[in-house]
Amino acid sequence: MRTATITINPSALTHNLNRVKAIAPHAKILAMVKSNAYGHSVKAVLPALKQADGIGVATLTEALEARQLGWSKAIGLVEGVFSAQEWQQAIANDLSCVIHHAPQLKWALEALPPTHSATKLVWLKYNTGMNRLGFNEEQVIEAAKRLDDAGYQLILTTHFANADVREHPLNSLQIQRFSKVFDTLQTMLDQDLKASLCNSAAIVNFPEYHCDWVRPGIMLYGSSPVSDQSADMLDLQAVMTFSAQIMALQTVKAGDAIGYGSRWIAATDTRTALVSVGYGDGYPRVVDDSAYVQVVAGIERFVCPVIGRVAMDMLVIDISTLPEVALDSTVILWGEVPHVDEVAASAGTISYELLCRLSARPLRL
Ligand SMILES: *Cc1c(COP(=O)(O)O)cnc(C)c1O
Repeated sequence: MRTATITINPSALTHNLNRVKAIAPHAKILAMVKSNAYGHSVKAVLPALKQADGIGVATLTEALEARQLGWSKAIGLVEGVFSAQEWQQAIANDLSCVIHHAPQLKWALEALPPTHSATKLVWLKYNTGMNRLGFNEEQVIEAAKRLDDAGYQLILTTHFANADVREHPLNSLQIQRFSKVFDTLQTMLDQDLKASLCNSAAIVNFPEYHCDWVRPGIMLYGSSPVSDQSADMLDLQAVMTFSAQIMALQTVKAGDAIGYGSRWIAATDTRTALVSVGYGDGYPRVVDDSAYVQVVAGIERFVCPVIGRVAMDMLVIDISTLPEVALDSTVILWGEVPHVDEVAASAGTISYELLCRLSARPLRL
């Protein structure tokens, strides 16, 4: 049987969660599981995230799925609700919502959750420079006052645009703007205002700003969130292994071309293997010549370059340097080696995208 396979290693996930706890020991953790847990499947990851304080999702559907799977701790809806009716569903399911624009503020003020509801906790979004979601300075102060008056507990929150590059000048500007509003609100409001700024990259790069809640996503799944350190340097373990099998063996003659567009031409006689995976499974078509896979042959493992154009259902690798390879040998597309961060670099993108756009075709074990 043709098998492209995705396996999830829950203990790697727990390890990475513990890494976040070690780096941010005083903050609560909202583990981000949006987009089906970055392609890992919410169902597969929730058990390993038990020690997180809550999970973060982007849509109401994702939140309801997590509740159905038995997640009883906090759920943060990071884009908030999209209608007054969704606000009611948030209350009914004990979700804590981001409020980032006036309509959401209106819905929250018109329909107050019961006193002990988790929906009484609001993530109030301040736009400090990302310029997507969030109120400006004046609006956020006004919104905070009204929500405070209505009995809501507030987490002032913002999101960095360049946290992966520590020295980027917008980072300090965003922090400055955030601190100013936070201080103003702290004096103005009666409540014990909380703060949350950090995604994975900021958790690593801005330890002084972990504050009350951190919001790790990609680092939980074992990818490096920063530009200057690898996952290995950060002691993060790959959670997903994406693998396939050798489905045929061939030898091509010097001068022969392989695949669509005849992009790769053999310089010498070359032993090749056909691997049962392609862009139809989610392996990126656009990888350059740096792309490689790992072939598992018994107890040995070999690194082999991807050659020719990746197709929908298959790709070709060069096995010239290997001893005999058996049909059906396992081929690792990403996992420990190569790391998905390396494949992403070969494809000119980031690991987030490769993980999220895996198709429904691979078997999930
Ligand atoms: C997705 C998301 C995160 C997590 O980002 P990573 O870079 O994956 O750590 C944090 N905060 C918000 C608001 C998000 O939407």
